[in-house]
Amino acid sequence: MHKGLIVQKFGGSSVANLSRIQNVARRVVNYSKKGYDLVVVVSALGDTTDELIELAHKINPEPAEREMDMLLSTGEQISVALLAMAIHKLGYEAISFTGAQVGIITDTSHTRARILKINADKIKEELKNGKIVIVAGFQGVTLNQDITTLGRGGSDLTAVALAKELCARECQIYTDVAGIYTTDPHIERRAKKISRITYDEMLEMASLGAQVMQARSIEVAKKFNVPIHVRSSFSKKSGTMIVREVKRMEDVVVSGVTLNKKEAKITVCNVPDRPGVAAKIFKELSSGGISVDMIVQNVSHTRQTDISFTVNKSGLSKASRITKKIARQIQADDVLEDQDIARVSIVGVGMKSHPGVAAKMFESLAKNKINIEMISTSDISISCIIKKKSGETAVRALHEKFGLAK
Ligand code: ASP
Ligand code: MG
Repeated sequence: MHKGLIVQKFGGSSVANLSRIQNVARRVVNYSKKGYDLVVVVSALGDTTDELIELAHKINPEPAEREMDMLLSTGEQISVALLAMAIHKLGYEAISFTGAQVGIITDTSHTRARILKINADKIKEELKNGKIVIVAGFQGVTLNQDITTLGRGGSDLTAVALAKELCARECQIYTDVAGIYTTDPHIERRAKKISRITYDEMLEMASLGAQVMQARSIEVAKKFNVPIHVRSSFSKKSGTMIVREVKRMEDVVVSGVTLNKKEAKITVCNVPDRPGVAAKIFKELSSGGISVDMIVQNVSHTRQTDISFTVNKSGLSKASRITKKIARQIQADDVLEDQDIARVSIVGVGMKSHPGVAAKMFESLAKNKINIEMISTSDISISCIIKKKSGETAVRALHEKFGLAK
């Protein structure tokens, strides 16, 4: 009986050791027995990618990005081969491939490559031969045969892109948590599993700090309407469906609360208040490959103003170096760095139709004596930069305030 194709992706924690790899093999085989065609995408075992990055930096603090991709792609190559062997051991047919072997063609932006196209013929052929096809996540190849990687967490993107290309019924993302939660259960024990969430909300949550899925992969899923099911690899229970639209019985204003401690703040003091100054700062930063997040500039009553913005901590030293250079050129004063910050955000499509959400958020922070340093909003989210040490308190307060607790 032929039930169609499913793409399953197993993250690093799902294949962290041999017994977990065997667990994955059993799950895959169970689906195969039910009559599904299966394409399985796997991440590198456990923390392999982090360990490889550390190793590289010990050899050279600024490793060439092409060589970084050569190195990091090996992690996933180990996983796919071991999983294929584990499936063979259970008496089923499986074959493993690297990204390059299954024609995942990318551009040449090493360490953050974009998928240009996928030639899925080889996969289709092996599926026709009755095999379970296992594909190394997170990697592709340029038209010049250079190996590339798709950015951290990129196995999600591999899975979603293959699901789209192969018109899969569903893309299942297996992880070590039961699905998407109203907030991080490690911070708030009363966090609830969400059964259905929209692409937009998920995208916002992923960009704002929820760790479960790579943001880029959700963008692609949304664009092509790929149904995603995020669930635990250690339980049979269903997890969270990510879909275009959710019809809820009751009005939900806020769907989730996120916390991100990976950003740092840069402030340029006493910037001359004249046209073109902001353009100059942010143009140089973007040429330097730094992506800037929140930006705040005060209206000036004098002839000078402060400009603050946040960047990812990993890019802080470079961003700071560039900003100091520009500050001298435009005759601004000091450039200050602050790593002691956290971003707490509330996310929900319901915000669009409910006034007063921001006020409620600020009130709740004030009641907990948490000072707001910066604010930014989108259609469906509000973020505040606060002191890092208040991050967890803020999450719990907002989770309670917006009625998300069990
Ligand atoms: N192994 C890669 C990483 O850790 C890709 C992934 O896990 O999705 O970023
Ligand atoms: Mg990983």
